[in-house]
Amino acid sequence: MNRVYNFSAGPSILPESVLAKAAEEMLNYNGTGMSVMEMSHRSKAYTSIIENAESLLRKLMKIDDSYSILFVQGGASTQFSMIPMNLFSKYKKADFINTGNWSKKAISEAKLFGAANVAASSEDSNFTYIPEEYNLSQEVDYVHITSNNTLEGTRFVTFPDTGNVPLVADMSSEIMSREMDVNKFGLIYAGAQKNLGPAGLTIVIVKTDLIGKHLENTPTMLRYETHAKEKSLYNTPPCYSIYVAGLVFKWLDDMGGVKTIEKINNEKAAILYNFLDESKMFLNKVNRKDRSLMNVPFTAPTDELNEKFIKEAEQAGLCTLRGHRLIGGMRASIYNAMPVEGVIKLVDFMKKFELENK
Ligand SMILES: *Cc1c(COP(=O)(O)O)cnc(C)c1O
Repeated sequence: MNRVYNFSAGPSILPESVLAKAAEEMLNYNGTGMSVMEMSHRSKAYTSIIENAESLLRKLMKIDDSYSILFVQGGASTQFSMIPMNLFSKYKKADFINTGNWSKKAISEAKLFGAANVAASSEDSNFTYIPEEYNLSQEVDYVHITSNNTLEGTRFVTFPDTGNVPLVADMSSEIMSREMDVNKFGLIYAGAQKNLGPAGLTIVIVKTDLIGKHLENTPTMLRYETHAKEKSLYNTPPCYSIYVAGLVFKWLDDMGGVKTIEKINNEKAAILYNFLDESKMFLNKVNRKDRSLMNVPFTAPTDELNEKFIKEAEQAGLCTLRGHRLIGGMRASIYNAMPVEGVIKLVDFMKKFELENK
């Protein structure tokens, strides 16, 4: 069987051992004689799957009982509107730090329900850096950031201090990639398909005291309260995606947790950025200190060379390196499941390409 190194931004690479385990359990999960896909979400077997997933998530991210964990559908994109619907409880206004394409989408959805103030933005330089000064107000319901910018390849190394105002973070493309203090946040959300599992599952980690203050006409399915009260089983949850995410959590826990993967992620990113810094052909335009550990965009000097690179890399088993259509060039997404070896192979290939195309 030929597996490639898949640098896709999402849906993206999963640990091979997780896929093998899911395959092994596909026809008969744990002696039940059925697949997890075929199982009632109210069965005993499934109850333990979802409870285990939640408790591993709490353990890995050190999430205490003052937070609720919701397993919902609709992607991070649905959270762009669910968050204002549920958190616009007093001012109907939020501050946003605009650091890229996903921030912009979050801003435009929030405007459907109230006011979205841009407290800082790096749009003036194509989102190649993270602003350091913000014009934050006290009279807002929350402050929103995109902690890792999947397209642009930047991340917040440290998070803004918002005092008593809840900090809300879209962590879709970096959740569980580095240690962080969850207590700094009012709400963290992430689509699972970047770093946690298959598409179809969205994880919301929300301070329980922020729940239950939704706007009056918020539909039942779009209220955090509904999912918190019913432990994500108000209706059929994304059962199979939760099961696979649970296997990913177990894989991470067995290797030593977030602390261990953070070290490996730092190592992988260093290998790639060190090469980019010495290369005469490839360029990463991001402000050094704001570089993402997860998504690394880079370009060759011409469109022809970019195309040639993508094509030849694919032939060498280094796949899905095409950059986002808004950014162009290449992008290597090196999420938790990407082994160090994959990044070494990529850099070796880049070196060879540079020599051959001088
Ligand atoms: C991928 C991504 C999204 C969109 O996620 P969906 O699950 O497709 O809605 C939002 N924010 C960030 C930071 C992302 O990387």
